[in-house]
Amino acid sequence: MVARAARATDLADLDGAVSNCFACPRLVSWREEVARTKRAAFREQHYWGRPVPGFGTPDARIGILGLAPAAHGGNRTGRIFTGDRSGDVLFAALHRAGLANQPTSVAADDGLTLRDTRIFAAVRCAPPDNKPTPAERDTCAPWLHREVALIRPTLRVVVALGAFAWAAWWPVLRDVYGVRPPSPRPVFGHGAHWSGTAAPELLGCYHVSQQNTFTGRLTPLMLDDVFARAKQLAGVD
Ligand code: SF4
Repeated sequence: MVARAARATDLADLDGAVSNCFACPRLVSWREEVARTKRAAFREQHYWGRPVPGFGTPDARIGILGLAPAAHGGNRTGRIFTGDRSGDVLFAALHRAGLANQPTSVAADDGLTLRDTRIFAAVRCAPPDNKPTPAERDTCAPWLHREVALIRPTLRVVVALGAFAWAAWWPVLRDVYGVRPPSPRPVFGHGAHWSGTAAPELLGCYHVSQQNTFTGRLTPLMLDDVFARAKQLAGVD
């Protein structure tokens, strides 16, 4: 799997290859079980039930790094943050920021396009309870690392959604940029900012999960501030 990720020549090749990954037995079993049993509201739909590739432009200046697909969101629709409440919040914010052509993301063929932005997850398969194990995170890392390597020429800023994504970024520094990660690691927080040489800037943002958005821990205004900052750092109008 590591070799296959490293061989990917472009994003289309990478997206196709990751969609056929079976490296994590627990996650393969879970994603397929969810796709078989389905949520009642989606009983008539065909679930994707496979790893979910990144989404967005190949010349992205802004990267958005999430945790993993949602069982009935990306694992159902085949597109990251698509078809769930987290995606509703994220794409509404991207639309307000002028980085998405529409505020909703409901299906892979809904016409959504991004500008200067690509979204990807640290782990590409939906995990039980949204909690991948450290071993699963490490097994999946080559897909993320190759994706970042392919957009490296334009990538200027990465927004890490949550502490898991924040932690998943440091190995990218080493493997993709040849940069030694800072020690001790900067602590994750909403609005946290790490800036190094020869690597993209890193911004922390609370995850757009329902636990955060329903409780008011993460508000639309807070998201607007993060994406305004990301655009400014990335030189996006
Ligand atoms: S989580 Fe990543 S490495 Fe594991 S099976 Fe899914 S795509 Fe493959």
